Amino acid sequence: MHILRLLIAACLPALPLGAAEKPRAIVIFYADDLGYNDTSTYGCEKVPCPHLDRLATEGLRFTNAHSTTSVCTPSRYSLLTGEYAWRRKDTNILPGDAKLILPTKEERATLPSLMQQAGYRTAVIGKWHLGLGRGEEPTDWNRHIAPGPNEVGFDHAFILAATGDRVPCVYLENGHVVGLDPADPIQVSYKTPFPGEKQGSTHPELLKPHAHSNGPQHNCTIVDGIPRIGHMSGGTAALWKDQDMADRLTEEAIRFIRESAAMDKPIFLYFATNDIHVPRDPHPRFVGKSRMGIRGDVTVQMDDCLGRLRAALTENGYGDCLFIFSSDNGPVINDGYWDGSIRDCAGHNPVAPMGMGHYQNGKLTGGKYGIMEGSTCVPFIVCRPGHVPANEVTHALVSQVDLARSLAELVGVEVPAGALPDSRNELPALTGKNRQGAPYIIEQSPGRLLAIRQGEWKYYRRGKQEHLYNLSADPKEEHNVAQQNPETVQQLYRLLQRAQEPPQPIK
Ligand code: CA
Repeated sequence: MHILRLLIAACLPALPLGAAEKPRAIVIFYADDLGYNDTSTYGCEKVPCPHLDRLATEGLRFTNAHSTTSVCTPSRYSLLTGEYAWRRKDTNILPGDAKLILPTKEERATLPSLMQQAGYRTAVIGKWHLGLGRGEEPTDWNRHIAPGPNEVGFDHAFILAATGDRVPCVYLENGHVVGLDPADPIQVSYKTPFPGEKQGSTHPELLKPHAHSNGPQHNCTIVDGIPRIGHMSGGTAALWKDQDMADRLTEEAIRFIRESAAMDKPIFLYFATNDIHVPRDPHPRFVGKSRMGIRGDVTVQMDDCLGRLRAALTENGYGDCLFIFSSDNGPVINDGYWDGSIRDCAGHNPVAPMGMGHYQNGKLTGGKYGIMEGSTCVPFIVCRPGHVPANEVTHALVSQVDLARSLAELVGVEVPAGALPDSRNELPALTGKNRQGAPYIIEQSPGRLLAIRQGEWKYYRRGKQEHLYNLSADPKEEHNVAQQNPETVQQLYRLLQRAQEPPQPIK
């Protein structure tokens, strides 16, 4: 069956660019904390990423594509709901025991439920960080936990509940902790240590050399030689091994691809790798594979996963895949652990606090947690042979909030009124037909500071201070030209105010 499909695909002429034909697979490969210039693909020669390089050669590479926010949870919320996260109060970085913040299928359509409706078998593999359960009582990790990804619209879910540096350090598959021994129940607390708990602060001798915390937050329960945020006991047999995580997630994704092929189903896969978020603990076969230390090595590890995923897609009859690669926010070097990254990246921007503004942003400034362009301008590549131009670069302005409606348009599914409220159809920009992109986008830092981007301008107001930058002339945002351009300030201020009003349903 698959060989037949491959033969047919090989014999067909290339379709016109942007033809709105449903791809057999849609994959979003979502890196974590990967900066604009962190890979060879975007210019970092010390971190070879041959598979990402190949993706760019076969696809369209964006230079002005943005996550909605400069941290994890709200960017993921916006990507999947098509709604700017700042419209809700509970979308900041979540603890590992937070309740679900996404609407369930019954409450409101989201990207995964729309793909499901369009006939795709849907899956999330990797980092979730969008909460689980109703929050009416503390999460019981020893029972089935719902609502979660399945209730949002994913047919299959193999996830980390939150992040690699937060408890519980276990995988969940469709609401159940994987490999849990009922005789060793899991308990989780983000307030109180458990009796006899070994913490980073009290047992530094148990820590891996690159896993010493840089502060109290990342210094709680030690799991796999790494102190985490939050407290956890039990579940010993279910605990993940950090060095195996990239392989495990990739294997789970490949399993989903194979099973879907056997069912002859088209697929939508949201693959949310943990790389290159902390704790950075690469598998030994990747150690030293970059020339930029451990942070570079986990980037190479991420690239290996990408190569294996793409190979599995082709081998299983999903050669007609719309493959989207991006990151949830800009880069950070020191984010909780003394893992050597400051030393390894030294010389690029030694005065930057916490690694922000380091050279991995290329010409940009800023990073994770910030509001400057390097905080949300992320690597972004779209690939679909025959439908998206190959080996081209586009400077179109793109926001990840627009992916949901664009993909809904691509697969021809009707979006109910009220769903994807901030998401626009930017399929022409995503497929290279339009090189301008969105009329404007909004960027957010976690302190709910909002900036608006329109054309060459960027505007935000911090306290009483107006900020206006001409990014064509000043990509590093070093020269605030608000005083010299009062009309532009007023226009962008009003546009930003209007954009924050409740959105009108898009017909
Ligand atoms: Ca992130």
